[in-house]
Amino acid sequence: MAGVMIITGGSRGIGAATARLAAKTGYDVCINFVRDAAAAERIAAEVREAGRRAHCVQADVGIESDIERLFEVTDRELGRVSVLVNNAAAVGPGRRRVETMGAEAVNALLATNVTGPIVCAREAIRRMSTKHGGPGGAIVNVSSASSRIGAPNLWIDYAASKGAIDTFTIGLAQEVAQEGIRVNAVRPGLIDTDIHLASGIPDRLARSEKLIPMRRPGTAQEVAEAILWLASPAASYVSGAILDVAGGR
Ligand code: NAP
Repeated sequence: MAGVMIITGGSRGIGAATARLAAKTGYDVCINFVRDAAAAERIAAEVREAGRRAHCVQADVGIESDIERLFEVTDRELGRVSVLVNNAAAVGPGRRRVETMGAEAVNALLATNVTGPIVCAREAIRRMSTKHGGPGGAIVNVSSASSRIGAPNLWIDYAASKGAIDTFTIGLAQEVAQEGIRVNAVRPGLIDTDIHLASGIPDRLARSEKLIPMRRPGTAQEVAEAILWLASPAASYVSGAILDVAGGR
């Protein structure tokens, strides 16, 4: 058996594709969501159809006590986590310039996109680390190609939050390397999910195709494949890596 995987934001998009593939690979899956319980339950049903256990947990990764509950419920319902996929993130409304940004909204976005993954990693390490009596494990952070592109005139605060995730991945990988935990990131480019509805540009994916060397957006499945590989024993000597899944961009 592959173990227990917690996927934050596992109910839709890249997280949902990761849950499906994880179940096929042999993981039991904790599907975290914040609002859409029905979407989470649909993915859980697919995991169960694949013969694995699934549990859905409503928790806002921007709230520390919600994260603590997410891990406690997973302990109880599925057992000790062996893979954490730090996937949930917020973008906020699109088409914004920095001079329109208020501190409150920026702080809320950073709470979800930066503090959330750090606190989730803390909870995972307390369970996985050999230093704490755990058997080891893997953490895969979902960054974004926007961390190196910058997303000007769209959502720079979001892009900056993903820059923080890249740095966090590099540092944490070294911090826990001798404790049986590998830490890596995927850095997706433009992927065909609902996240782009928030951009304020209805045909954003089609319009952006010319910027992508492969001339098409990626699929959530293509990102999930990279996540599952980084989590797997096949990547046993890979830690601190940031894997671009961006069609050559
Ligand atoms: P999505 O389709 O919009 O799905 C977002 C998921 O995150 C949903 O399951 C949502 O739950 C959950 N979520 C949102 N805020 C949350 C919170 N505060 N607490 C817990 N869960 C929360 O997004 P996606 O495109 O799959 O993006 C997934 C990850 O990939 C994100 O980290 C994103 O930055 C990254 N990424 C995406 C792209 C892209 O082009 N799609 C490119 C680069 C990076 P509900 O359904 O309950 O709202």
